[in-house]
Amino acid sequence: MRWLVLLEPRGEMTTASLVAVATTARSARSAGAELHALWTDGDAEDVGSHLRGLGIATLHAVPADQIPPFSHEAWLPLLTELVKNLEIELIVGPASALGQSWLAALAARLDAELAQNCIALGVAAQGTPLVRKPFYAGKLLADLRLDRRPALVTLRPASFQIERNGDALPAIAYHTMINPNDLRSSIKEMVNVSASISELADARIVVSGGRGMGGADHWAVLRELCQVLGAGLGASRAAVDAGWIHHAHQVGQTGKVVTPNLYIACGISGAVQHLAGMRSAHKVVAINKDPTAEIFQHCDYGIVGDLFEVVPMLIQELKAQRPHAA
Ligand SMILES: Cc1cc2nc3c(=O)[nH]c(=O)nc-3n(C[C@H](O)[C@H](O)[C@H](O)COP(=O)(O)OP(=O)(O)OC[C@H]3O[C@@H](n4cnc5c(N)ncnc54)[C@H](O)[C@@H]3O)c2cc1C
Repeated sequence: MRWLVLLEPRGEMTTASLVAVATTARSARSAGAELHALWTDGDAEDVGSHLRGLGIATLHAVPADQIPPFSHEAWLPLLTELVKNLEIELIVGPASALGQSWLAALAARLDAELAQNCIALGVAAQGTPLVRKPFYAGKLLADLRLDRRPALVTLRPASFQIERNGDALPAIAYHTMINPNDLRSSIKEMVNVSASISELADARIVVSGGRGMGGADHWAVLRELCQVLGAGLGASRAAVDAGWIHHAHQVGQTGKVVTPNLYIACGISGAVQHLAGMRSAHKVVAINKDPTAEIFQHCDYGIVGDLFEVVPMLIQELKAQRPHAA
């Protein structure tokens, strides 16, 4: 039995990919499955070193000059061939925007079963994959058994320890992709709407602002806190809908799901749809001037106060403790 993990082609190993591969490796050990990984973004030696001790038999890779960025058309034929030739029974990817769209395209091509946005992967009898998937903004957790082969799963990044077993590196097998000149479409340019967005899903610390920010011109204080902490900037939907910040920063049911070590919610009431995007954070700090705000039921540390007084004090204290951080 063989399983395969897709690594996001983002130039380097992302936390989302590493968590997907480590979670799958643990289940592959109990299922007795041989684990493979696919990397389509250049230097496979470097990525291979991130996979040491995770029990990956082979890292399949494509040379950098053969990879048109983010092109389903280019990598789908290669992946379909790999799945068929190696008789892969389970394909896992990170539940990022890229991972979800890639696996959806692959599921359509293979006419296969797909479970998106799962939070856990386990194994039933005969190595059958079991996944846990949240519904209704996390109010319901369903355990699903994926009986058909191949099965496809995307896993949300969660904060947990990566368990390595020794130092063994995967073997690397290079493949050839479709000739880029044969593609019918290509991406000419990638524009980042904000420098901090791409890091949000991977950030170890996230600072988010809500309607309590009070306007589009008041975010400098949160941006400064982000800078001091090396944090990603998030937002509630109320702040996004008001046009104060780009949608790409939105955390929640209809935004990004983040799983940082520390989440600081500023002027956010704690609606269930917002909690759906940050409830797996390891520690949550809430700053809100209303002592009855729902967010205080879901945080580890609550500060009742005006964020425009509390956050500058935090920044001042952090700068005093870490004078080189600013
Ligand atoms: C289908 C659906 C999907 C949704 N998806 C999302 C989603 O993905 N993400 C999301 O966030 N929401 C989502 N929502 C919206 C959600 O229901 C809430 O309306 C939204 O989260 C509220 O945002 P908020 O907490 O910033 O605003 P509010 O609920 O208005 O809370 C503002 C808070 O700021 C506090 N405050 C005000 N001024 C200050 C100050 N100076 N200092 C400190 N505190 C202050 C107030 O006491 C209040 O608690 C969705 C809703 C629906 C119906």
